[in-house]
Amino acid sequence: MRDARYDVLFEPVPLGPVVARNRFFQVPHCNGMGHRDPTAHAVMRGVKAEGGWAVVCTEEVDFHPDSDTSGFVEGRLWDDADIPMHERLVDQVHAHDSLAGIEFVHNGMASANMYGRVPPAGPSHLPVKGYEPIQARAMTHADITDLRRRHRAAVRRALTAGYDLVYVYAAHNLSTFQHFLSPWSNLRDDDYGGTLANRARLLREVLEDTREECDGRAAVACRIVVDELHGADGIQRGDMDPLFELIGEIPDVWDVMVGVWEDDSLPSRFGHEAWTEEHFRGIKQLTSKPVVGIGWLTSPDTMVRLVQSGVLDLIGAARPSIADPFLPVKVEEGRLEDIRECIGCNVCVAGDWTMTPIRCTQNPAMGEEWRRDWHPERFRPRGSESKVLVVGGGPAGMEAAMALGKRGYDVMLAEATRELGGRVLHEARLPGLAAWIRVVDYRRGQLGKLANVEVALESEVTADEAREYGFDHVAVATGSRWRADGVGRRHTRPIPLDLVDVLTPDDLFAGTRPAGDRVVLYDDDHYYLGGALAELLAGEGKHVTLVTPAALVSEWTVNTMEQPRIHKRLVEAGVELVTAHDLAGAGGGEARLVDTFTRRESSIPLDSLVLVTARLPNDELARDLGVTAVGDALAPGTIASAVWDGRRYAEELDTPPRGDDLPFKREVVKLA
Ligand code: ADP
Ligand code: SF4
Repeated sequence: MRDARYDVLFEPVPLGPVVARNRFFQVPHCNGMGHRDPTAHAVMRGVKAEGGWAVVCTEEVDFHPDSDTSGFVEGRLWDDADIPMHERLVDQVHAHDSLAGIEFVHNGMASANMYGRVPPAGPSHLPVKGYEPIQARAMTHADITDLRRRHRAAVRRALTAGYDLVYVYAAHNLSTFQHFLSPWSNLRDDDYGGTLANRARLLREVLEDTREECDGRAAVACRIVVDELHGADGIQRGDMDPLFELIGEIPDVWDVMVGVWEDDSLPSRFGHEAWTEEHFRGIKQLTSKPVVGIGWLTSPDTMVRLVQSGVLDLIGAARPSIADPFLPVKVEEGRLEDIRECIGCNVCVAGDWTMTPIRCTQNPAMGEEWRRDWHPERFRPRGSESKVLVVGGGPAGMEAAMALGKRGYDVMLAEATRELGGRVLHEARLPGLAAWIRVVDYRRGQLGKLANVEVALESEVTADEAREYGFDHVAVATGSRWRADGVGRRHTRPIPLDLVDVLTPDDLFAGTRPAGDRVVLYDDDHYYLGGALAELLAGEGKHVTLVTPAALVSEWTVNTMEQPRIHKRLVEAGVELVTAHDLAGAGGGEARLVDTFTRRESSIPLDSLVLVTARLPNDELARDLGVTAVGDALAPGTIASAVWDGRRYAEELDTPPRGDDLPFKREVVKLA
């Protein structure tokens, strides 16, 4: 039973003509499946509804062929041919009595229209976002009329598909309606430019159009940026008072956000829960309509506080609903300890940025609900009475043992050290990564509830022991170790290193510290670890130079939207950054570098060298036993991939061999 203090979260909230059955609102979020994988997308949204989210929305949906979000894989409702895939999504959401919402987007100057090849259009003649060598043209009055007409047509199609809530989108610097509203991008001198009332004209007209089309059949939502964080050049929080006087009562619900997507999905490394509160406070008082907002809200107590203090009416969530689609149900059933809290790593975001189906570090079923029939909470019953030994209690081994246990197998999880968690135990102690320990906390809690899973700590398992114990299956999740020879992406043979103090991340995790003050950290891994270790050592007083062959530090974190903040933080920590340089060798008190473009050589003095290049799987045990390793012991990767592989092992145990069949379902387009 739920605790009465959370009752407020389960109060119904009228949204114009419809009613949200509680205050849990899954705001629109991208997922890398969109129009390419419509059934996978629909089923994923259905699982959120099943998990108790009263409102479940799409990602941004293209409605105008003159503005497409390609190559990102978003939603699409260009014409009637796209209606069936939306009907499928709506059906999935309605099956669990939730409301389905759709967020239309006209990207305008935020998109180069790579697919449609039509020159983009926005308020003014300005280059498109990013570095595509294309400009948006200033829309004429005829263009504006056409855009409004097409938005109306899209709303009608959304109603045909059965949506209960239709968005007018003016946020994230991704929407023409925002581009018109903002003095930063609106340089017009006609009746759509200049004063706030003029800049808001298009947004007001489209809101009114949408209201008229919906005509009481669906609610109208408006997603608005309350502060572009551009200072006086852009929309500022103070603009909301006069703006809400103009349009505050037109939509049925306001969805508020701050800055751009990089701010909205603020990684836990750079922010805290409810960081948005200071920006949202007072918005509710500008309108009689309910307000939804996000803020990496994972704690039910914070949610209650935001509602009771009059900041929000509805708890907006993207990432918390990805990490745990069943968060509302767990609060309702008083099972707070079962909540799989988002760690704020933004691996989910990387799905969209790499145009591939969304994945989640905490929830390996995310994006696999239809493709592989994985459910975040339900597990297929065991296929035999086999007993399984899982060796290694890192994320892969913990997930495998937990999922096997939930399937009903008798499981022994053996971990060599005194604590479960593997690499996460070390990485969560790095600056800013404390929330990552939730990967361990959740699984340790679940394992503790499973009577059929025994956890043996301080139990290093040898091949002979594994054989003697008489288990039917052994899953080897023994992790990986960092290389000390420089082999990685740039060098596939060891780097010449003479008479130099060399450390790996494993050495640093074990507490060893570089000799001397001058540390060169060579990052050929390009994800978060090199930057996080540089920050750690700089914080301990070392003079750190981070050398990377990439053009950007922690280059891959562009995909998790962390890169600019990592760069800033390293500079502020006093780390010297040397990009586009390769480490050719080290010795004699210096590191020899080579410019990756010109091949020009240089050197920098050092006392110690930290190498973050590549790892080797700890697969000796698996090879001795003749079994396939799981997680990093199979192929070192992200924590997300280790968790996913643990789940895959558990799912596939006792299932018939697939042969050459694809390991997942896919949808093939019908030929024209
Ligand atoms: P992954 O990310 O694949 O889960 P980790 O490196 O995080 O890998 O975790 C591997 C875990 O396996 C570590 O906790 C390590 O102590 C444990 N381990 C390694 N070898 C053995 C072994 N032979 N017996 C038991 N535990 C082991
Ligand atoms: Fe949260 Fe990371 Fe999962 Fe995204 S991938 S929902 S940030 S745990």
